[in-house]
Amino acid sequence: MQIPITGSMLYSYALCPHRVTLDLFGDPAKRDPVSPFVELLWERGNLYEREVVEGLEVPFLNLRGVEPAEERESRTRAALDSGTDLIYGGRLSAGDLLGEPDLLRRRGDLYLPGDIKSGSGLEGAGEEREGKPKKHYANQLALYLDILKTLGRAVGGETFVIDIRGEEVPYDLALSRGPKSPPMWSEYREVLASVRAISRKEKTTTPALCAACKLCHWRSYCFARIKAADDLTLIPELGRSRRDKLARRLPTVRALAEAAPGKLTAGKKSLVAGIGAATILKFRERARLLKTPGARPYFTEEVSFPPAGRELFYDVETDPMRDVCYLHGFVVREGGGERFFGFFADDPTPESERRAFRQAWELIASGFTALYVYSSYEKTTLKKLAARHPDVAGVEEVEELFLRDGVMDLYGDLVRSKMEWPTHDLSIKTLAKFLGFQWRDTDPSGASSIQWYHQWTEERDPALKTRILEYNEDDCVAMRVLLDGVRGLPVRGAD
Ligand code: SF4
Repeated sequence: MQIPITGSMLYSYALCPHRVTLDLFGDPAKRDPVSPFVELLWERGNLYEREVVEGLEVPFLNLRGVEPAEERESRTRAALDSGTDLIYGGRLSAGDLLGEPDLLRRRGDLYLPGDIKSGSGLEGAGEEREGKPKKHYANQLALYLDILKTLGRAVGGETFVIDIRGEEVPYDLALSRGPKSPPMWSEYREVLASVRAISRKEKTTTPALCAACKLCHWRSYCFARIKAADDLTLIPELGRSRRDKLARRLPTVRALAEAAPGKLTAGKKSLVAGIGAATILKFRERARLLKTPGARPYFTEEVSFPPAGRELFYDVETDPMRDVCYLHGFVVREGGGERFFGFFADDPTPESERRAFRQAWELIASGFTALYVYSSYEKTTLKKLAARHPDVAGVEEVEELFLRDGVMDLYGDLVRSKMEWPTHDLSIKTLAKFLGFQWRDTDPSGASSIQWYHQWTEERDPALKTRILEYNEDDCVAMRVLLDGVRGLPVRGAD
């Protein structure tokens, strides 16, 4: 029987091709339970969709929830034939394609498909950049458009997204997402061909340790296989595409660790197609570290740290679903002691967010000899807050702060650029745990914190607020543990 290709399969493919395979053919009993955070995402997505639909100012045909699905599909087709202006929650199919666009909007005799998304319409948008269409959104829209074209109900590439701000973001699929990308329609055709091949068992996929694993329902199952296979994606930052380039010659971490450098490079030239000489030697060194019992991290060059005195370890928590920064946490170490400050937005409102931002900014302004963060996220968040609440601080002031002596991004300025670690990733959780630190919470993660915050805003249970603050405090302490743990480590080059 032919397996229908759906929008959610294309979405999954963008996260991880192997997920398409496992969702279709994996043993459901091997799945992990869906994480509370993913459930929250679904819930918020549905809630937001309802809000948008209730706010539509034009009449529409509501087909959401019509069962059985075949009935919904025939009513959608009838609505297209009768020229209904706007259809919500329809269902369409053509050949092996099956789509459920949130909206179908009539223009003349044709229809434009659109989706309602509880996220920003474009990715990478900033003060100086406009942002570009998201590939996974574009692929889903392209599937709807493909069906409409087959039905003779669409031409060209026009589709749209209604984003979290309620704004309509045009997605013209005849255009490219960026100067170096092909048109979105071509990207879709390529993804569609791969998903189709997976569904017909003409293409095989393998698990790869990647960012998407954290929230994936196959994470335990895949991680066991990745470990058993000694898969190259166990090496920090190596990733699926380099793994696939290396896999035939050096299929395991051990094989790479034991490869003679002369087999990988000749002078400055790499002997591995698609991976530069310095990069392949760096990954070989990481493989070697992973395979060396009792290996310790080390510096690859000398590093000078900001002076002690008054050190701030700073970590923010944000909720992307409500676009709010709800916590600024600081561990302040001075005079031989340390203290935690957590500036918390009790409500997900601009006023509450501003208050917490003001308190955080005042603490920063009270002076420091060293300000530590882990990643560029604090800077990005502060700039966003400054744009939103310029009465607290201006964007330029935030820029200046991060240029000051004593400010150090422990991830970008240290771990990633000047160190090597015998770990599978370079997250603060992994490195601080490697150094012996334990979070108090049994489920410490940014995603969990967001879920607790949602619960807090609904239930107001003080235990939830305490949990959020303690988790954040531990994140700040973890930075201090990292800093103290790496001081005094040796400096050495790769063998
Ligand atoms: S756990 Fe990771 S590798 Fe496995 S299907 Fe999910 S995202 Fe892919």
